[in-house]
Amino acid sequence: MPHLEAEIGVIHGRLVEGVRIPFKQDIFFETVILPGFSDTHAHPQVIDAGLSPGRIALWSNSYEWLETRRLAVDEAMVRRDLGLSARLAELALKRMALEGVTLAAFTGVLEANLKARLRVSPGPRLVLLPTLMDREGWSRPGEVSRLYEKYGNYLEDDYLRPGIFLHSLRMASRETFSGAVDLALRGRMPLGLHLSEGVSEARYFARAIGGYKRLPRIVAVHCINDDPGRLGVRCSSCPASNMLLYGKTRSSLRGVTSFGSDWPHLIGSMPRHLGLITRLYPASLGEIMFRATTGGYMDYGVSHHGDFVAYDAPLESVIEGEALPRMVSVGGEVVVEEGRLTLTGESLEDIVEETAEIVKYAVELYGNGLMPHIPGEEAVGDIAKRLDADSSLNLVRELLWV
Ligand SMILES: [Zn+2]
Repeated sequence: MPHLEAEIGVIHGRLVEGVRIPFKQDIFFETVILPGFSDTHAHPQVIDAGLSPGRIALWSNSYEWLETRRLAVDEAMVRRDLGLSARLAELALKRMALEGVTLAAFTGVLEANLKARLRVSPGPRLVLLPTLMDREGWSRPGEVSRLYEKYGNYLEDDYLRPGIFLHSLRMASRETFSGAVDLALRGRMPLGLHLSEGVSEARYFARAIGGYKRLPRIVAVHCINDDPGRLGVRCSSCPASNMLLYGKTRSSLRGVTSFGSDWPHLIGSMPRHLGLITRLYPASLGEIMFRATTGGYMDYGVSHHGDFVAYDAPLESVIEGEALPRMVSVGGEVVVEEGRLTLTGESLEDIVEETAEIVKYAVELYGNGLMPHIPGEEAVGDIAKRLDADSSLNLVRELLWV
């Protein structure tokens, strides 16, 4: 029987020297990661976060950011444009595959994200987390329920897992919250929500879940200020976007079950942020790698059978966020070969170029004439390097990185 061999492997977060596993062909790599990376929180329709070149930590929490940020592109209009939203989700999914993500979770527009996954096949496994919010232009539970009924045939397996995403506690009425909980319970779906993103929400959360006899699996996102374990929830931490917006992130890995990138179009997907993550939590490479891979699959209850990412690069450059995979496999099917998508032959460079084109198009249609600031994964790498020099978690406000 042919085998895949690698000098070094990370298998469920554990370092293994000399990996040899049955595979459909004899093939050799320097490093293999098994299962592949899970990026458990991403907004594929976000092409503008109100960021400014050279500045980080302009806000102290998510509510302040939502109220005061200045966007160059009208995000409600982008969301309403199903064609554009689907194209953005497709590019995000392709980018993730090329960066080593085998499981992604997408918030935002349900139909657009579903379309994207059907187009990018073979591609990463996808958890659909349509966003619910009591604001003009966003979905309510009833609408999402109807859409899930309509598209039920596509959601049959581990490659496309339905879920629900409640934007945040303060953006949801009691009725929307209970609608989301009911929907998640009925469909045995995970329920995600932004929580404690710069401000403690433990009391709010306790009040919201009080009175329920049964709750769905809850994956809270960010959890900077509260210990998610004590709240009884899993937690997808997004260190890169947290550092960019607030200059702080969760102070320890306690309660963190996986990692997310938040904005793949703006800063790349989660594997590109490993350099930052390993510097934030320097004592625990195994714990980081477990969360960066298996942890996300556990968050959403998805199979990882046949998933791996393999590199012609040393492990050090993988955990620096610098190496790109030569091969990516999902469910035993090769999604990326020789650094290109097997579906289309596109490389990461192609996808980044196509994304720049589509951003330009979105700005022309729905922008105010200015281009949004897209910091790129380099900006995250720069914060990591600054942490090398100054290990304090709270970077100085308005710190210049260029
Ligand atoms: Zn988010």
